[in-house]
Amino acid sequence: MAASAKSKVRVPPAFVEPHAQAKCLSALHRQANSCERCELYKNATQTVFGEGHSGARVVLVGEQPGDREDIAGMPFVGPAGRLLDECLHEASIDRSLCYVTNAVKHFKFERRGKRRLHAKPNAGEIQRCAWWLGGEIDVVRPHLIVALGATALYALMGHSVGLTKERGQILATPNQVPLLVTVHPSYLLRIRNRNDRDSEHLKFVDDLRMISRYL
Ligand code: SF4
Repeated sequence: MAASAKSKVRVPPAFVEPHAQAKCLSALHRQANSCERCELYKNATQTVFGEGHSGARVVLVGEQPGDREDIAGMPFVGPAGRLLDECLHEASIDRSLCYVTNAVKHFKFERRGKRRLHAKPNAGEIQRCAWWLGGEIDVVRPHLIVALGATALYALMGHSVGLTKERGQILATPNQVPLLVTVHPSYLLRIRNRNDRDSEHLKFVDDLRMISRYL
Protein backbone atom coordinates (compact mmCIF):
# COMPACT_ATOMS: atom_id res chain seq x y z
CA MET A 1 0.00 0.00 0.00
CA ALA A 2 1.18 3.52 -0.69
CA ALA A 3 1.66 5.78 2.27
CA SER A 4 -1.31 8.04 2.91
CA ALA A 5 0.72 11.25 2.93
CA LYS A 6 3.99 12.05 1.30
CA SER A 7 5.39 13.64 4.45
CA LYS A 8 5.08 10.30 6.26
CA VAL A 9 7.47 8.58 3.89
CA ARG A 10 10.84 8.58 5.55
CA VAL A 11 13.90 8.18 3.40
CA PRO A 12 17.08 8.02 5.46
CA PRO A 13 19.74 10.30 4.00
CA ALA A 14 21.80 7.31 3.04
CA PHE A 15 19.81 5.19 0.62
CA VAL A 16 22.95 4.97 -1.43
CA GLU A 17 25.64 5.77 1.12
CA PRO A 18 27.44 8.11 0.84
CA HIS A 19 25.74 10.26 -1.76
CA ALA A 20 25.58 13.80 -3.10
CA GLN A 21 23.85 16.40 -0.99
CA ALA A 22 21.90 19.39 -2.25
CA LYS A 23 18.76 21.30 -1.37
CA CYS A 24 17.14 20.85 -4.76
CA LEU A 25 17.41 18.91 -7.98
CA SER A 26 18.74 21.83 -10.01
CA ALA A 27 21.62 22.27 -7.56
CA LEU A 28 22.40 18.56 -7.80
CA HIS A 29 22.23 18.76 -11.56
CA ARG A 30 24.71 21.65 -11.61
CA GLN A 31 27.11 19.64 -9.45
CA ALA A 32 26.77 16.59 -11.68
CA ASN A 33 27.51 18.61 -14.80
CA SER A 34 31.17 18.78 -13.80
CA CYS A 35 31.44 15.25 -12.40
CA GLU A 36 34.70 13.38 -12.96
CA ARG A 37 34.10 10.56 -10.49
CA CYS A 38 34.75 7.98 -13.22
CA GLU A 39 36.19 8.02 -16.73
CA LEU A 40 32.88 8.11 -18.58
CA TYR A 41 32.66 11.90 -18.74
CA LYS A 42 35.68 12.00 -21.05
CA ASN A 43 34.00 10.70 -24.20
CA ALA A 44 30.36 11.58 -23.64
CA THR A 45 28.81 14.84 -24.82
CA GLN A 46 27.33 15.83 -21.48
CA THR A 47 25.91 14.67 -18.17
CA VAL A 48 22.38 13.40 -18.65
CA PHE A 49 20.71 14.05 -15.34
CA GLY A 50 17.25 12.96 -14.22
CA GLU A 51 14.12 14.77 -15.31
CA GLY A 52 10.94 15.53 -13.41
CA HIS A 53 9.83 17.47 -10.38
CA SER A 54 11.03 17.04 -6.83
CA GLY A 55 7.50 16.24 -5.63
CA ALA A 56 7.21 13.14 -7.82
CA ARG A 57 5.95 10.13 -5.90
CA VAL A 58 7.61 7.63 -8.22
CA VAL A 59 11.20 7.49 -9.44
CA LEU A 60 11.94 5.44 -12.55
CA VAL A 61 15.58 4.38 -12.85
CA GLY A 62 17.07 3.13 -16.12
CA GLU A 63 20.60 2.10 -17.00
CA GLN A 64 22.45 4.93 -18.75
CA PRO A 65 21.76 7.50 -21.48
CA GLY A 66 21.92 6.23 -25.04
CA ASP A 67 23.15 7.98 -28.17
CA ARG A 68 20.08 10.23 -28.52
CA GLU A 69 19.98 11.08 -24.83
CA ASP A 70 23.67 11.96 -24.86
CA ILE A 71 23.09 14.50 -27.62
CA ALA A 72 19.80 15.85 -26.25
CA GLY A 73 20.97 15.93 -22.63
CA MET A 74 17.68 14.35 -21.48
CA PRO A 75 16.91 10.81 -20.30
CA PHE A 76 14.66 8.41 -22.19
CA VAL A 77 14.17 10.40 -25.39
CA GLY A 78 15.49 7.72 -27.79
CA PRO A 79 13.78 4.52 -29.00
CA ALA A 80 13.70 2.93 -25.54
CA GLY A 81 12.26 6.14 -24.11
CA ARG A 82 9.52 6.23 -26.72
CA LEU A 83 8.66 2.63 -25.93
CA LEU A 84 8.62 3.44 -22.22
CA ASP A 85 6.21 6.31 -22.92
CA GLU A 86 3.98 4.00 -24.96
CA CYS A 87 3.95 1.33 -22.23
CA LEU A 88 3.33 3.88 -19.47
CA HIS A 89 0.41 5.21 -21.50
CA GLU A 90 -1.00 1.69 -21.92
CA ALA A 91 -0.64 1.20 -18.16
CA SER A 92 -2.48 4.54 -17.61
CA ILE A 93 0.56 6.08 -15.91
CA ASP A 94 1.31 9.74 -16.60
CA ARG A 95 5.09 10.01 -17.08
CA SER A 96 4.99 13.66 -16.03
CA LEU A 97 4.05 12.48 -12.51
CA CYS A 98 7.26 10.45 -12.30
CA TYR A 99 10.89 11.45 -11.91
CA VAL A 100 12.90 9.66 -14.60
CA THR A 101 16.62 9.07 -14.32
CA ASN A 102 19.44 6.62 -14.98
CA ALA A 103 21.82 4.73 -12.72
CA VAL A 104 24.74 6.12 -14.77
CA LYS A 105 24.67 9.69 -16.04
CA HIS A 106 27.15 9.56 -18.91
CA PHE A 107 26.83 7.59 -22.15
CA LYS A 108 29.27 4.69 -22.40
CA PHE A 109 29.84 3.47 -25.93
CA GLU A 110 32.20 1.82 -28.41
CA ARG A 111 32.84 3.44 -31.77
CA ARG A 112 32.15 1.40 -34.90
CA GLY A 113 32.88 3.73 -37.77
CA LYS A 114 30.51 6.64 -37.38
CA ARG A 115 28.24 4.73 -35.03
CA ARG A 116 28.43 4.79 -31.26
CA LEU A 117 27.29 1.47 -29.87
CA HIS A 118 26.01 1.14 -26.32
CA ALA A 119 28.50 -0.43 -23.91
CA LYS A 120 27.41 -1.73 -20.53
CA PRO A 121 28.69 0.24 -17.54
CA ASN A 122 30.83 -1.83 -15.18
CA ALA A 123 30.29 -2.30 -11.45
CA GLY A 124 32.80 0.42 -10.53
CA GLU A 125 31.13 2.97 -12.81
CA ILE A 126 27.71 2.10 -11.43
CA GLN A 127 28.93 2.42 -7.87
CA ARG A 128 30.64 5.75 -8.60
CA CYS A 129 27.53 7.17 -10.19
CA ALA A 130 25.29 5.95 -7.35
CA TRP A 131 26.58 9.13 -5.68
CA TRP A 132 24.14 11.09 -7.85
CA LEU A 133 21.30 8.58 -7.81
CA GLY A 134 21.34 8.60 -4.02
CA GLY A 135 21.25 12.40 -4.08
CA GLU A 136 18.26 12.42 -6.42
CA ILE A 137 16.34 9.94 -4.27
CA ASP A 138 17.14 11.92 -1.17
CA VAL A 139 15.70 15.10 -2.68
CA VAL A 140 12.63 13.51 -4.31
CA ARG A 141 11.77 11.12 -1.44
CA PRO A 142 9.50 8.95 -3.54
CA HIS A 143 6.81 6.52 -2.48
CA LEU A 144 8.06 3.98 -5.00
CA ILE A 145 11.24 3.40 -6.97
CA VAL A 146 11.09 1.39 -10.19
CA ALA A 147 14.24 -0.42 -11.28
CA LEU A 148 14.18 -0.73 -15.06
CA GLY A 149 16.68 -3.54 -15.68
CA ALA A 150 19.63 -5.16 -13.97
CA THR A 151 21.94 -2.14 -13.86
CA ALA A 152 19.37 -0.02 -12.05
CA LEU A 153 18.64 -2.89 -9.68
CA TYR A 154 22.33 -3.29 -8.93
CA ALA A 155 22.77 0.44 -8.35
CA LEU A 156 19.79 0.61 -6.02
CA MET A 157 20.46 -2.54 -4.00
CA GLY A 158 24.24 -2.23 -3.99
CA HIS A 159 24.67 -5.88 -4.92
CA SER A 160 23.55 -8.31 -7.61
CA VAL A 161 19.91 -9.38 -7.46
CA GLY A 162 18.35 -11.87 -9.88
CA LEU A 163 16.23 -9.77 -12.24
CA THR A 164 14.37 -12.74 -13.71
CA LYS A 165 13.48 -14.07 -10.26
CA GLU A 166 12.39 -10.73 -8.84
CA ARG A 167 10.72 -9.24 -11.90
CA GLY A 168 7.21 -7.98 -11.19
CA GLN A 169 7.91 -8.07 -7.44
CA ILE A 170 8.02 -5.19 -5.02
CA LEU A 171 11.09 -5.57 -2.84
CA ALA A 172 11.59 -4.14 0.61
CA THR A 173 14.64 -1.91 0.86
CA PRO A 174 16.63 -0.77 3.89
CA ASN A 175 15.23 2.74 3.49
CA GLN A 176 11.56 1.62 3.57
CA VAL A 177 10.87 2.77 0.00
CA PRO A 178 9.33 -0.10 -1.97
CA LEU A 179 11.27 -1.10 -5.07
CA LEU A 180 9.43 -2.45 -8.11
CA VAL A 181 11.60 -4.64 -10.31
CA THR A 182 11.05 -4.88 -14.04
CA VAL A 183 12.98 -4.95 -17.30
CA HIS A 184 14.47 -2.07 -19.25
CA PRO A 185 12.43 -1.14 -22.33
CA SER A 186 15.52 -1.68 -24.52
CA TYR A 187 15.18 -5.38 -23.67
CA LEU A 188 11.87 -5.42 -25.54
CA LEU A 189 13.48 -3.72 -28.54
CA ARG A 190 16.06 -6.50 -28.80
CA ILE A 191 13.53 -9.37 -29.00
CA ARG A 192 13.35 -10.55 -32.61
CA ASN A 193 10.45 -12.97 -32.45
CA ARG A 194 7.22 -11.02 -32.76
CA ASN A 195 5.14 -13.27 -30.51
CA ASP A 196 7.78 -13.18 -27.79
CA ARG A 197 8.08 -9.41 -28.13
CA ASP A 198 4.30 -8.93 -27.87
CA SER A 199 4.12 -11.18 -24.84
CA GLU A 200 7.00 -9.37 -23.10
CA HIS A 201 5.40 -6.04 -23.98
CA LEU A 202 2.21 -7.07 -22.17
CA LYS A 203 4.19 -8.29 -19.16
CA PHE A 204 6.05 -4.98 -19.00
CA VAL A 205 2.80 -3.01 -19.12
CA ASP A 206 1.44 -5.24 -16.34
CA ASP A 207 4.51 -4.44 -14.23
CA LEU A 208 4.07 -0.71 -14.85
CA ARG A 209 0.40 -0.87 -13.82
CA MET A 210 1.59 -1.50 -10.27
CA ILE A 211 2.88 2.09 -10.19
CA SER A 212 -0.65 3.49 -10.04
CA ARG A 213 -1.04 2.43 -6.39
CA TYR A 214 1.75 4.83 -5.43
CA LEU A 215 0.78 7.90 -7.41
S1 SF4 B 1 29.13 8.41 -15.22
FE1 SF4 B 1 28.45 9.30 -13.29
S2 SF4 B 1 30.19 9.07 -11.89
FE2 SF4 B 1 30.96 8.79 -13.99
S3 SF4 B 1 31.63 10.85 -14.60
FE3 SF4 B 1 29.53 10.61 -15.30
S4 SF4 B 1 28.24 11.51 -13.68
FE4 SF4 B 1 30.29 11.13 -12.83
